[in-house]
Amino acid sequence: MSSWDLTEIYKDIDDQKILRDIESIQKNKKRVSNFHFNAGSSLEVKKILNLYTQILSKLLRIESYFTLLYFKKNNDDKIKSLYINITSQVKEVKKELENIKYEIANKSHSGIFLRKLPNHYKNWLKIANNTQININEKKYIILYDDEIKKKHIRNKHIFTHILNEYHHFFNTEALKINMNNGFEYICHKNNIPKNFSENLTNTSIKLYESKFIQDLEKKVSQEPFLIHYTHEQAVDMSKSIILSCLESFSMSFKQKASYFFFNKKIDFFPDQFKESGAFCYQTAPSLHPYILLNLKKENWLQDTFILMHELGHGIHQTFSKQRGVLDYLIDPSVNEINSIFCELLLFDFLINNTNNFNKKVILSFIWRRIKNLFFKQAFYHKFEVDVCLSRAHCILRDEDIEKIWQRTQKNVLGQCSADNKYEWIFIPHFFKHPFYIQCYPICFYIAIKLFQIYKSNINQDFVQKYTKLLSKGSALSINEILKHFSMKVREDNISRDVVIFIENIFR
Ligand SMILES: [Zn+2]
Repeated sequence: MSSWDLTEIYKDIDDQKILRDIESIQKNKKRVSNFHFNAGSSLEVKKILNLYTQILSKLLRIESYFTLLYFKKNNDDKIKSLYINITSQVKEVKKELENIKYEIANKSHSGIFLRKLPNHYKNWLKIANNTQININEKKYIILYDDEIKKKHIRNKHIFTHILNEYHHFFNTEALKINMNNGFEYICHKNNIPKNFSENLTNTSIKLYESKFIQDLEKKVSQEPFLIHYTHEQAVDMSKSIILSCLESFSMSFKQKASYFFFNKKIDFFPDQFKESGAFCYQTAPSLHPYILLNLKKENWLQDTFILMHELGHGIHQTFSKQRGVLDYLIDPSVNEINSIFCELLLFDFLINNTNNFNKKVILSFIWRRIKNLFFKQAFYHKFEVDVCLSRAHCILRDEDIEKIWQRTQKNVLGQCSADNKYEWIFIPHFFKHPFYIQCYPICFYIAIKLFQIYKSNINQDFVQKYTKLLSKGSALSINEILKHFSMKVREDNISRDVVIFIENIFR
């Protein structure tokens, strides 16, 4: 049960279906890219759109397969070269089809789509607005090479280089669309109002430095207890806690989570040549998502939270995959809401289902999670903003970035020492998904508001309403959630809301 079964995608890497899919993409791609929207009738336009969605589905299938294989075994030369080859081909095709998106977004055609494809029209527009970020391919891939990671400090200039490239790009793009800097550009791109992100970050930082949190930290911080289980025992315990917890919330949540466990959709344990960290890979709407973890058996309680977090993503992804290939991708601004909401369900479940002795330990783990999900991310975000703003003036050297790191993290890490001086290199978000980190405090806040509504029983049909929202795919936005539950976010309430939430747990 400990590893993925990928045969729903392809039998193996020699599966003839892979070649057939590539051929079909190449053939249909020509028809799509040679099509002239001005000359086509609405019937022809519809046909081409269908063809386009078929190509996209096949591209996603191939891309998912080789990406997952590579995550699992990045030392295998055959897989590695196939992965690099396939992902660059996929990118190439997507680029070739780029003009289609703009054709479709062109206002002069909007009539056709409103008449013929009312549901899809918005999504085409959305795709067109999402500008691709292209950064020197080689440098991007080099980062995922484990050898480089191992020699990280010696190679810190590579990380410095990537930050410089990214933030230069953001700053230039921001100027192109009349914004002050790259930070605003990213908020705009991720659908997050600038003041919302800033408010949440500043509130989180201020609150962390307050006496209330510092006292709490002293009270609940405790060394993790180390009990030696086998990997399988640890997973069994986590699984049974998670499934009982989800069952008490919603049967469909429990069923969706069970599917991951019983159909080999989770890869649990560390392995020398496996991708590090934890995530849920969204694949394609016709396929199931896959979860990658690196569970450490000696810390199974901490890992239970991480497993629940990734299942939260998986549950959201399986709800949204009903929307089809144009519509299934979850917006980054709301992506962390259900993963954090599921963790909150787990906090509540553990507090109410353990004896007093364990409760102390559990509270200390819950505090760590809150610190990691809400407070630390705000400090990381500050680092990214400062790097971005400084990069607008000049190219940054290793020591400039180190200084920004020390300045921005001082209060959450304690004094920066030789140990944590280079910690920024190990935070993959800075390199894989720049500025994504701001989504954590934002989604944490929305998740605690949702959780309060759920617990207060104001909304009798909370579960149905919430599930319906999760099925909205790319159409789900923060505003949509606020509207649905008549929630209001007021800057001056954020801090109080978080304090009340924390007090309720630790009282
Ligand atoms: Zn997450």
